[in-house]
This record gives sequence, structure tokens and C-alpha cells, in this order.
Amino acid sequence: MERTFVILKPCTLQRGLVGEVISRFEKKGLKLVAMKMYRFTKEKCAQHYAHLVSKPFYPIIESSMMAAPVILCCWEGIDAVSVVREMTGATNGRNAAPGTVRGDFCMSHQENIVHASDSQETAKAELERFFTADDYFEYDSPLFDYLYAKDEL
Ligand code: ADP
Repeated sequence: MERTFVILKPCTLQRGLVGEVISRFEKKGLKLVAMKMYRFTKEKCAQHYAHLVSKPFYPIIESSMMAAPVILCCWEGIDAVSVVREMTGATNGRNAAPGTVRGDFCMSHQENIVHASDSQETAKAELERFFTADDYFEYDSPLFDYLYAKDEL
């Protein structure tokens, strides 16, 4: 099974949307295997957004991501990375399609509810950056046989 990494951003916590967003991923059929509350430091933010640190808007990213705690999650499922990215929608909430998390819940480029890994390689690196082996939980899902056909597993 593939795993992907999602951050519910400070705006999501402050706006009381944590439950709504997690509920979407749960209802889709993704399995929650790790979750914790976390407060970004400047160092961790620069590491996570290393590809954007040199951009003029980076200070906005930093202050936004450090404004309040975030929720870190790991979701598991077949093709979890691409499924979660599709559900997340375009970066700017004003352009994101209705039905996506960003399309339904935000109006902003930065205050855009979630971060979601954009590839399997990124997911692996991001999960290693934020979680240790102890953060993951193994459990059987009683609905598993109804989420996937036998030939998909
Ligand atoms: P995504 O989050 O959709 O993968 P990017 O990796 O391009 O998008 O950007 C990461 C985050 O950096 C975005 O979610 C947003 O918070 C911020 N960001 C990206 N581009 C801009 C921009 N032009 N202005 C402000 N914030 C931006």
C-alpha cells in the first residue's frame, strides 16, 4: 500500500476545519496510519519548503506556517499520493475546482488548507522528516474487503 503525507495548515486549525478535512480523506477510503499535532520551527519550515526558500514570497509562507500548530497525517491506500493530490486541488484556492478541498474551503494561494505530497519520492522524504517508526499504527480495517476488489490488492 502506498503512503502519503498531509499537513493541515494553521488556517485549517484556526477556522475549525480539521474535522471536515480529515473526514473527506476518511470517507474516500484512505486509511489513517499516523497523525500528530505539531508546531513548525523556522528550520523545519525552510527544510520542508526548500524549493521555495529563495522566492520573494517565502516570508509569507514561513509566517503562515508558524502562525499556529498544524496537524500532520499519513494516509494509506492504493495510489494514495495521486488520489490525495487530486482531492486537494490547485494551489490557489480561487482556481481550485469545486469538490476539491481547496476549491471548497479557501480563497487563497497561501491559506490553502492543506499541504499534500506531490510524488511518491516526496512523500517518502516528507514522512521521514516528520514521523518516526513509533508514530505509525498497524491495525486491521474491517471495511477493507469493501473498499477494494480482490484483484486490486
Ligand atoms: P502545492 O502546495 O500545491 O504543492 P507548491 O509546492 O507550488 O504548491 O507551493 C507550496 C506552498 O507554497 C503553497 O501551498 C503555498 O502555501 C505557497 N506558495 C506557493 N506559491 C506561492 C505564491 N506565488 N505566493 C504565495 N504563496 C505561495
